[in-house]
Amino acid sequence: MKVIKEPIKITWTIQQECLDNYSELGCGAILEVSLEDIYLNFKQKSYSNSGDEYLHYYIDESYAFKCPCCGKENLINKNDIPERMRKLLKTTESSKKRLSDYKKTLSKK
Ligand SMILES: [Zn+2]
Repeated sequence: MKVIKEPIKITWTIQQECLDNYSELGCGAILEVSLEDIYLNFKQKSYSNSGDEYLHYYIDESYAFKCPCCGKENLINKNDIPERMRKLLKTTESSKKRLSDYKKTLSKK
């Protein structure tokens, strides 16, 4: 096979600081985070429309990475990640597995 056009390389990185959140202390390291470092976290959230008697549930995604210096999990603002990268992240095997694992924990409740 002949490649007419080379695939678009993923060279996206973002600078993130290991910060304090969720009462956990960050170490303050400044890190260059690439797509391979980021994984998806899932959390069930709910909302209600006025007039509705029941809550609507949905699964919210957040993007996280682990600090290599202290091991703390840090979240990345969704809007800081380009849409194409978010789509790519969702299609990785580990993301799919995380989502199906998470759904399993939900159905046990
Ligand atoms: Zn850290």
